[in-house]
Amino acid sequence: MLGAASVALTTSSASMLTSCSSACKKEQIPSTPLRLSFQEHTAPGDSLNERFDFMENLGIVGFEPGGRNLANRVGEFQQALSGRNIKLSAICAGFGGFILAEDPKVKAEFDATMRDIIAAAGELGSTGVIMVPVFNWQAPSLPHTLDTRQYLCEQMHELGEYALKHNTTVILEPLNRKEAHYLRQVADAAAICRDSKSAGVKCMGDFWHMQEETSDYAAFMAAGKEYLQHVHVASRGRRIMPGEDGELDNYVEGFRALKQLEYPHYVSFECGTKGDRTQTVTAAVELLRSQWEQA
Ligand code: MG
Repeated sequence: MLGAASVALTTSSASMLTSCSSACKKEQIPSTPLRLSFQEHTAPGDSLNERFDFMENLGIVGFEPGGRNLANRVGEFQQALSGRNIKLSAICAGFGGFILAEDPKVKAEFDATMRDIIAAAGELGSTGVIMVPVFNWQAPSLPHTLDTRQYLCEQMHELGEYALKHNTTVILEPLNRKEAHYLRQVADAAAICRDSKSAGVKCMGDFWHMQEETSDYAAFMAAGKEYLQHVHVASRGRRIMPGEDGELDNYVEGFRALKQLEYPHYVSFECGTKGDRTQTVTAAVELLRSQWEQA
């Protein structure tokens, strides 16, 4: 038989359990925010500041400029971003040459220009510099062999270590087979990250190029938190604003993976538009936010 004190204790424990269980439940639900980013000409506007105003009004928190001439634009970007709730996300390529070039001069051009961009990216606090090992149109390139893969991993290691010294990373981007047969899937890029043995080598997924994948969810999960550093988004039929290709523009499975991974980086627009930019950009942001909620 329970005494009055025991009953009081039992009642109080029960209410503590109730309040703990609702608080704990809330803690268990991942509340990963969707951090959206725009490239330099995604938002309408005649100047960087006009575009940043538009972005801030929409709650866009990332900015992904191209890497060309980046060292000379560091001050301009720092000034335009000062006092705003927008940070540099990734830097999109912009280097000369390519890493798998057969011609030593073309490879040397890549090494020099890529390192300049990495150093500037670090100054700007960027999450990394996006690169493609070789596009289909780039020739002559090293053959698609085991030796070339080993060489790529060694070269990526050096680049990754250089990036770490500048507090940033290099991000491998897989493309669809029409643009780059060499590296097409997110899991393959992640395996190159692993085999490069440098924490400065990362990868990304681009929803447009991910037509190569059998599953958006599996692709992001294969890269996981360790390697997935950036995401690009576009409509899935014509690479315009998400939503402009109607039913095709479904990102829910990919977003589910990002939420489960508690993905801390950006989902960045890389696309054009067929409509009025002010309207299509705004509608695209609404669509992505609603699909993030569904995921
Ligand atoms: Mg892309």
